[in-house]
Amino acid sequence: MHSIWEGRAAGDFMSTMMVNDSVFACIYLCEGPRGRITPLSRVLSPDLLLLRTDQVTSKPRCRCHSYLGRVVQLFISATYLRLFHVLSVHFSTQMPPNSLIDLSHPLTPHTPVYPGDPSFTMHRICSIPTHGYTVHTLSLGTHTGTHVDAPFHFFEQGEKLHELPLERFVGRALVVDVRHLARERGRIEWDDVQECLGRDTTCSSAGGALASLGARSEGKIDIVLFWTGWDEWWGEQKYFEHPCFGREVAEELAGMSVRVVGVDALSPDKTGLVQDGVEERRDPFAMHEVLLGRGCLIYENLTNLGALVCKGCAGEEVWVSLVPMNVHGADGGPVRAYGWKETLCT
Ligand SMILES: [Zn+2]
Repeated sequence: MHSIWEGRAAGDFMSTMMVNDSVFACIYLCEGPRGRITPLSRVLSPDLLLLRTDQVTSKPRCRCHSYLGRVVQLFISATYLRLFHVLSVHFSTQMPPNSLIDLSHPLTPHTPVYPGDPSFTMHRICSIPTHGYTVHTLSLGTHTGTHVDAPFHFFEQGEKLHELPLERFVGRALVVDVRHLARERGRIEWDDVQECLGRDTTCSSAGGALASLGARSEGKIDIVLFWTGWDEWWGEQKYFEHPCFGREVAEELAGMSVRVVGVDALSPDKTGLVQDGVEERRDPFAMHEVLLGRGCLIYENLTNLGALVCKGCAGEEVWVSLVPMNVHGADGGPVRAYGWKETLCT
């Protein structure tokens, strides 16, 4: 725990605890990372627990305000310190990493890949009996398993993985439940998505889920994850017959400054099959073209998104970490995606 006697700490957290005659420890809230009042339960680590105390306007000193009075005040302050320390340890055990939700499929030789992409393989080249240690070679495409598409995937001048800052891969997310719209090879249009967002009242933003989307710099959510439920068919032929999204979905989301779109299916666009007719081949990469063209990232083959959905608590936030390996020059790459919920309810 930081010494609160220093009076000030790094970052956005402010400590205004002062030890003098007119300060009383009375507030158990901290300034949150986005500059708002945040319950103590949001404090992630005892190291970040700083006390904010209201500086009460100076009380008139009585003549007997003496050495004994100061001792009593110091004793009270020390008692609060002990209390806060106990609480911080308690709350820190409630927070990640104990409650992380894995959003990734494991990589195995059976991992389904986009038609034409290389499969995942892993070969042992050193073994403990022979070499004293184990080493494997891995072989896989950049779009194998749970992975990210960088703009370079569709655009020569688009950003490559190593050009994307870490901040692009982590943040608050909105999980949109579109399972009732998910049909085999069906297209989900913007009107449907908009209706889902309008119905979603679990979002902590005033105005609901739709109003919560926007630029991160404005304190809004710029990561949208579509929960189609299609991950249920992982490893089966039906997984390739997933639902897809209309071009307008990408245009609207990009227009709202959404910077990441993810799905729990092989692709947000229809996966082409040999027997496809003209209508089914219409606008085959609309989501990829629009989103990657606007600098957004796409995540594919996510799983377990339902575990992130807020259930009836208007004060919950969903956070995700979707960090790929830093492969220089890559157009995409596998990700160990995970997420967690932060409860703001008291
Ligand atoms: Zn991809």
